[in-house]
Amino acid sequence: TTFAALGLHPWLIAQLASVRIAAPSDIQSRAIPPTLAGSDIIASARTGSGKTAAFALPVLQKLAEDPYGVFAVVVTPTRELAFQIAEQFRILGAPINLRQTVLVGGVDMTTQSLALTRRPHVVVATPGRLVDHLESTGGAREVLGKVKFLILDEADRLLDPTFASHLDAILSALPPPGTRQTLLYSATMTPEIQVVAEGGGEGKRRPVV
Ligand code: AMP
Repeated sequence: TTFAALGLHPWLIAQLASVRIAAPSDIQSRAIPPTLAGSDIIASARTGSGKTAAFALPVLQKLAEDPYGVFAVVVTPTRELAFQIAEQFRILGAPINLRQTVLVGGVDMTTQSLALTRRPHVVVATPGRLVDHLESTGGAREVLGKVKFLILDEADRLLDPTFASHLDAILSALPPPGTRQTLLYSATMTPEIQVVAEGGGEGKRRPVV
């Protein structure tokens, strides 16, 4: 298939061509149409499958259609992954002047709080540092309380006991399921992951792609 057939707009297809990406990967073919249609997603995909673009492309397309403050929060288990995800958003989002920020440990909290007050469109964060911001008085809770997309990257690793309480705090600080889209990507698929995708509650089943 083609990116156009998946529903992507020409400016994104041009941006993909500029980094020599011509045809969608399997996960992109499966995940992009339902994401554009507004569905929640539980996707089984490993690093290297093109999963970052699978969630970044529809988020960017929706953002371009309806410019908004903090639009998407991506939660990922490591600093390195956070910077890699931010880099893909930077490249693909260049034509719409995407503003984004990375919230990870090892960087000054005050600098990050200041970046948040500038209302980035996309926040890429590791769980611990995101919770630090939500619990601080810097206004993160207010800024992040209205996001349109929550993306859980490497969700099986986010369920690790070191992150479990963080994930609960994040899910309860973001808008409830039904008022935001949740895009969950995991290398493995277990019942516990489905529960996280449903916002920790008993919500309805999500499309599995
Ligand atoms: P990821 O699975 O998101 O870590 O992506 C791995 C790499 O694949 C990244 O460097 C992307 O730039 C690249 N990539 C993403 N989508 C495609 C595609 N459809 N065709 C070829 N390469 C891609």
